[in-house]
Amino acid sequence: MSQSFPQGVLRAIRSAIGTAGRVALHEPSFAGREWEYVKDCLDSTFVSSVGAYVERFEAALAEYTGVRRAVAAVNGTAALHVALRLAGVGPGDEVLLPALTFVASANAVAYCGAVPHFVDSDEWTLGVDAAGLAAYLAEVATVRDGAAYNRGTGRRLAALVPVHVFGHPADLEPLAALCDQYRLVLVEDCAESLGSLYRGRHTGHWGRLAALSFNGNKVITTGGGGAILTNDTALADRAKHITQTAKQPHRWAFFHDELGFNYRMPNLNAALGCAQLERIDALVEAKRRLAARYHAAFAGVEGCVIFAEQSYARSNYWLNALVLAPDRARERERILEATNADGVMTRPVWTLMNRLPMYRDCPSMTLTGAEGLEARIVNLPSSPALGM
Ligand SMILES: *Cc1c(COP(=O)(O)O)cnc(C)c1O
Repeated sequence: MSQSFPQGVLRAIRSAIGTAGRVALHEPSFAGREWEYVKDCLDSTFVSSVGAYVERFEAALAEYTGVRRAVAAVNGTAALHVALRLAGVGPGDEVLLPALTFVASANAVAYCGAVPHFVDSDEWTLGVDAAGLAAYLAEVATVRDGAAYNRGTGRRLAALVPVHVFGHPADLEPLAALCDQYRLVLVEDCAESLGSLYRGRHTGHWGRLAALSFNGNKVITTGGGGAILTNDTALADRAKHITQTAKQPHRWAFFHDELGFNYRMPNLNAALGCAQLERIDALVEAKRRLAARYHAAFAGVEGCVIFAEQSYARSNYWLNALVLAPDRARERERILEATNADGVMTRPVWTLMNRLPMYRDCPSMTLTGAEGLEARIVNLPSSPALGM
């Protein structure tokens, strides 16, 4: 019996996840000491800006990623905002980042008073197209006095923010080389990539700074939360300072020595984070197992592939992505219809940033790769429990 393409996709998904019931796109898993640590936190009354879990969580993050310092923040967007400020991004600067990302990446740039400058993504990494960006910068950027400028707008090009989309590491080596050449600060958006390795090391290592997210749908969650990663201890100290209202330590006096933010992660959230991080290896393994099941289930389905990690990467497979062949792009809405109607929560990838009203007039390179991906990606249920 022949069946329609969307029905074939639905069948393959059901066969990979092994359940006939409703499935969410991504649900957290609390199977460790979450209750114990959160209860301990409540019992102590130190639920907010004082308490031991925040520092413990920061130390555990640094140890796990191998990045020297981690500074917890109230969410991933705030962490990225602080990372960009500490990268020297300010009003009137431009920041290069992919158009294919979650809106928070661009918002953090705008919070600095800077202008997002959108770059293309490639089909093999889902991240910034390094070769395309090299050609583009050769055309539009000029370096003088140790800084790059956009020839068209005259504004300084301050930083590049690669995003590790769905947990898959962008090809960081050529991007880092471009940053050297054009004196751009590399700031990694690792919101989705905790647990992913690029050439054997955790993402977050390659940038001067990086941002993580612990929102409820990410690899591990603190309810809401984020962190700044950096190997530069002076920057880490600055991050700690400005995320705590830039208050000078003193037994009673309130003296704030610069513009700071109330971006500190509450102790209650950090307690949850400590328990989650203890289980990250198991969570990543479960997600990789689920990805392998998707690959097997879709092996016989023509016209689409499950996005697979590059040979340079070991991905956390945060969110599995079905990539339709170009001639199947028109089936995307029908796949979303068929799956969601059946209780399988699927989602299209984000609308490209340059299509959103607040970023419509931002500078941008030609986005052929990103536009192709935007039309062809369907994200599949990826909760770690599905791979356990
Ligand atoms: C989740 C996410 C963020 C922001 O994290 P929040 O904790 O939700 O503020 C930033 N960038 C990307 C790519 C994300 O997926």
